[in-house]
Amino acid sequence: MRSVAYAKLWERHGEAYTTALCAVFVAAGWFASRAGVGLVGTNALYLLGYVLGGYRQAIEGTRTLVKDRELDVDLLMVVAAIGAAAIGYWFDGALLIFIFASSGTLEGYAGARTKRDIEALMALHPEDALVVRDGREERVRADTLGVSDTVLVRPGERIAADGRVVEGFSAVNQAAITGESIAVDRGPGDEVFAGTINGHGALRVTVTRPGGDTLLARMVKLVEDARERRPPAQLFIERFERTYAKVVVIGAILVVALPSLAGWWTFRQALYRAMIFLVVASPCALAASMMPTLLSALSNGARNGILFKGSAFIEALGRVRAMAFDKTGTVTAGRPVVTDVLSFSVAADDELLAIAAGVERLSEHPLARSIVAEAERRNLAVVAASDLQAIPGEGAHATVGGQRWSIGKSSLFGTVSNEISTRQHGLEADGKTVVLIGDGRAQGLIALRDTIRPRAREAIHALVDLGIRPMVLLTGDTRETAAAIGRELGIVEIHAGLLPEDKVSVVQELTRRCGQVAMVGDGVNDAPALASSTVGIAMGVTGTDVALETADIVLTTDELEKIAYAVALGRRALRVVKQNLVLALGMMVVLVGSDLLGWITLPWGVVGHEGSTLLVTLNGLRLLRSSKR
Ligand code: ADP
Ligand code: MG
Repeated sequence: MRSVAYAKLWERHGEAYTTALCAVFVAAGWFASRAGVGLVGTNALYLLGYVLGGYRQAIEGTRTLVKDRELDVDLLMVVAAIGAAAIGYWFDGALLIFIFASSGTLEGYAGARTKRDIEALMALHPEDALVVRDGREERVRADTLGVSDTVLVRPGERIAADGRVVEGFSAVNQAAITGESIAVDRGPGDEVFAGTINGHGALRVTVTRPGGDTLLARMVKLVEDARERRPPAQLFIERFERTYAKVVVIGAILVVALPSLAGWWTFRQALYRAMIFLVVASPCALAASMMPTLLSALSNGARNGILFKGSAFIEALGRVRAMAFDKTGTVTAGRPVVTDVLSFSVAADDELLAIAAGVERLSEHPLARSIVAEAERRNLAVVAASDLQAIPGEGAHATVGGQRWSIGKSSLFGTVSNEISTRQHGLEADGKTVVLIGDGRAQGLIALRDTIRPRAREAIHALVDLGIRPMVLLTGDTRETAAAIGRELGIVEIHAGLLPEDKVSVVQELTRRCGQVAMVGDGVNDAPALASSTVGIAMGVTGTDVALETADIVLTTDELEKIAYAVALGRRALRVVKQNLVLALGMMVVLVGSDLLGWITLPWGVVGHEGSTLLVTLNGLRLLRSSKR
């Protein structure tokens, strides 16, 4: 046990300890030389400092050199330090090693921070749950829970599963999912999520997602993947860094050779200048310009309900000009309610509804669920249907009682009487969605009203304030319904009656018109458009799996106002990366110039070089702080 604890401590802080010891020996060496201790004594102290501060980089760098035949910057630093010692500048070299080791340690902590954020997320998932099986309560591991298991949640406990409350009332703290630790009231019919904390009431919950696939588990997986994936710009910098390291070595050789051959500097002077060159021309600051910044933004997003699937999408979102929104399930809550059922044939209203519900019971569409729910509410005997054929964006066909029935848009039907059309347009003008039902010929209609999400209007306004223009509404629904919803939201540009592939064309047209386009959606029919936009954004809670898979960014709380926060975060990240690149390159030019002109000593070169590396790293870490929005 003990040794395990030590190993862990070493893994986390070992670099800090050796760096601190390095500092002690370098300082001791300096005092010894001041106190008149002989060269052997002081150099022995410095040597210990070199070894403690530089052995990691030396081993790492040699390995890269031997295995990959690549030069890395760490090795250059070690070589510069050894070179300095070789010509008698022991202290200068030791200082280089110490400062280099310190900044390496600090960068390590920055990386560890995002890793800790992920581990903290995982720790939120309770290990076990109290489940009721065959009337008995037993404790099982949370990842073995299956859909429709019943779980008991005691007051104050962390909820172990995603599910729906069937009994009990409580206030649930959803901070784990939403990032806001305000308790929300939960009662029968409401959704609860794994990782959130139950308040004072006891709840009985029916599991709706298998234990290994809860929203929280998905989030953790997404954040982990995002950390692994590096943006193209960073990959470019890394490749550039390798090539550039060779250029630095050649440059250093030239700095030794030319001036000493030309007789400007003595050989020893030239060697000293070359060592400074090795240090200040190295692209450390350049390399640190991007990753700490983007990783910080990534972890900031994760804490605020925005999951970027890769750091490249942070930048991409910062550049977005136009935005397209799907209507049903995205700007609307996706829980439509049936308001009218009208038959225009000999069949009774309820008879048609029973058939419709039979067909829709086989479908996953948000409208389908509402139609089934209405039939159940009216206590109708739902007719059995089979052979469902879903037509995304239009409707569905299925066989009922030996007949082929259709439900959906008028395009599915051969003939629609004037009487039905007139009634349909009237209902649509009120913002209701109307679906027709019939066997080849439309026989009746069902009207549903979906409410727009709370604060959707404010979310759209916030984006307009950020200069995102145009904002576009895309829907498979009809123009009348879409226009009514658009008016409510303040979106003027509306494309209605779209099939999934039409959504793609609209997104492509927007891309040509405006450059970078974000698409926000939830459904199977949105997936192609999500894929073809610059950045696809999916609703994490109500969104379908396909949409979640395809999107580049997932809103874990389905709150549209998070999009404006994410855009602002992306822009901040872009700004900081730009500042960093300017600082890194500028500092490099100044330092190389000062070296060649003979203005700076090695310690100053080191301080300037490492200082700029540290500065860009710290500048990047600023993105860990949540901004007000
Ligand atoms: P949106 O693009 O707004 O998310 P969809 O493309 O999913 O909407 O659906 C567009 C239209 O197609 C709906 O308004 C409805 O008229 C019809 N529709 C699609 N699927 C079904 C279904 N299963 N049952 C009834 N109507 C459907
Ligand atoms: Mg949709």
